[in-house]
Formats: sequence, structure tokens, C-alpha cells
Amino acid sequence: MRSLIDILDLSTRELDELISVALDIADHPEKYWDKCAHKKLATLFFEPSTRTRLSFEAAMLELGGSVLGFSEANSSSAAKGESVADTAKTVSNYADIIAMRHPKEGAPQVAAAAATIPVINAGDGGHFHPTQTLADLLTIHREMGRLNNLTIGLCGDLKYGRTVHSLIAAMSRYEGIRFVLISPEELKLPSYVRYNSLDPKGIPYTEVTSLEQAMPELDVLYMTRIQRERFDDPAEYDRLKNSYVLDTAKMALAKEKMAVLHPLPRVNEISVAVDDDPRAAYFRQTLNGKYMRMALILKLLEEAKADPARREREEADVIEDVLYCENPRCISATEQELRHKFKCVNREKKIYRCVYCESKKTLM
Ligand code: ASP
Repeated sequence: MRSLIDILDLSTRELDELISVALDIADHPEKYWDKCAHKKLATLFFEPSTRTRLSFEAAMLELGGSVLGFSEANSSSAAKGESVADTAKTVSNYADIIAMRHPKEGAPQVAAAAATIPVINAGDGGHFHPTQTLADLLTIHREMGRLNNLTIGLCGDLKYGRTVHSLIAAMSRYEGIRFVLISPEELKLPSYVRYNSLDPKGIPYTEVTSLEQAMPELDVLYMTRIQRERFDDPAEYDRLKNSYVLDTAKMALAKEKMAVLHPLPRVNEISVAVDDDPRAAYFRQTLNGKYMRMALILKLLEEAKADPARREREEADVIEDVLYCENPRCISATEQELRHKFKCVNREKKIYRCVYCESKKTLM
């Protein structure tokens, strides 16, 4: 059974195929009206969402399918202490495919291992958000006409911004990509994203704090929200929340042909006046998200039909219950009887990373 947990679960060829299906859906929606007749999507959202949940639901409805689910943890048995694995096993009896958002990193992966239907990660804590990346890729493709040879600026909360982590992983596989990472010192990109995506391929990147300085060289600017809900210390959030505001004066510094993306919701990091700029692509991006989610649902359901035998994710070089994850944001902190699994990422230095949240540990 094929699930989508990390954007790297899809090859670039598959991403290209999803983009061409999404473009065809945009042009000929009527061809797809019955493609998922009698199929059900379960949206299991343990964390708030507007675009992701509603675009998943709209996607399934526009494919002729139905939707069921919940939009907050309190209205599910999670509030009674039910595990993610038990929820996934149960929902496998009621639906054909699951889209899950969860505040704990690695939760959709635990669900995928327990479910007998495909599971789509709709955002896990500050970790990954692969379907947002699908929306981002289609948007860059439509706005810029290409996915290669681009200088991409990512601005704001690069530490907890799961959309940033997935987008960097995806774009690092295309030719001629350069990143400009614009953030306050406290919200710099986590080392695992550098280690997994940037360093192995020698992708050029610079880390800066000034958005003004970066503007003139960017083909794409990916703005993000400083996410109050990820901060343990509210004072730190208050100190950082106004770090960047994209306004018309800063847009005047940018290239004439460029695109501004934002996964949304925005708080104050893009001034409303920018919305009228033709380079502001973030509301078109929300529509692209629906098309890509339609293409993804179609693909995973077709694959599930062709190969219903359940398969676990590839787990080479993984040790179980030898190292223990101490990250309170990791699903291993709360899921009952979940084995702690670490994957070796550097044999010589005995460096391991938690398979759920990427926390780093060294084996003594
Ligand atoms: N909608 C995005 C997410 O779910 C970005 C955000 O919430 O700021 O990660």
C-alpha cells in the first residue's frame, strides 16, 4: 500500500506526472467527475486547518467521491487517549484513503504502518507537509514556466515551517536551484534539512537576515508565518512575530518576473496591498493545491487497487529500542507501545536519526 509521508516518497518523474494530471484536471474538470465514485476519503485533522482540509474535501467531492472525518482532536477518541495506530486501523474499515494532520511529528507515518489503506500526511507538527509542496510545485510551474534554474528565497520561520522543509527537499532534486534562506537567527533551517537535502547534492544556499537585500535576486519568494503554536516560550514568539513584512516598497526591489508564494494563513507578514501585485501568487496557489490533491488521490487509489498487499516503508539500517527519542514533539513521546526507531545516517561517526522526527543521536 502506497502512502505519502514525505515528498521524497514520490520520484521527480511522479511529481511531473502529477503536475500534468493536475493541469489536465484544471482544463477538463468534467473528465474527472466520476473517477472516485463510491470511494471515501477520511480527513483526520487533529490540528486546525482551512486550506488543506477543505481542499482535500473539495478534491474528493470533485472526483465524485465522498468524505468523512473530523476537524479537531477533541471530537475524536484521541481525546479519550486512543492511539494513532488504533485510529488508523479503525478508519481503514470505513474509508478508502486517509488524509491526516497531527501536531506530533511522525504521526502519519505511524498511521500508515497500521492502516490497510493509503495515508497522506497533511502536515505533522513542524516536520513535513508534502501536499503543500505539491501545491507549491504546480504554482511555481504555472507562474514561472519551469521548475529548474531558479533562485528561491524562503523567508520567516524556517525552523518550524514544515512547508519549507518539504519544499526544499523537493526543489533540491531539480537542476540549477539556489536557495536564499531569510530568517532570524532563532528560526534558522534545522540541520537535518541541510543534511538530507542540501549538503549531499551540494545545492548552493546562503543564509541572510535581510529580506530587502535578498529581493533583487529572487525568482520565487516563499513567505511563511511565524507560527505561534510551535513556540514553547510566548515571549520569544512576541519578540520574533514581526520579523518580516513584505510590503509594496519591498516588492519594488524585486524582479519584474517573479512569484510570491505563501502556504497561508497569513498573519501580517504580507501586507494586503501586495495582493494586487500580479506577482502575488498565493491565492492561485490555494487553487493549485486542490488540483494536485485530486491528482494525488487518483494516483494512490489506482495504485492501491493494482497492489492491495500491504507493504511497510523501507526500513534499512534501522535499530529498534536501542536509542530513545527525547523530542517532546515526536509521536514516540505519546503513542502507546511505539517502538523507538533510529536510522543510521553516518556509520563512521555512529550518528542516528529518529525515523519519526529526525532527532539526532550518537550511539556510544
Ligand atoms: N498552512 C501551513 C501549514 O499547515 C502553513 C501555516 O500554518 O503557517 O503548515
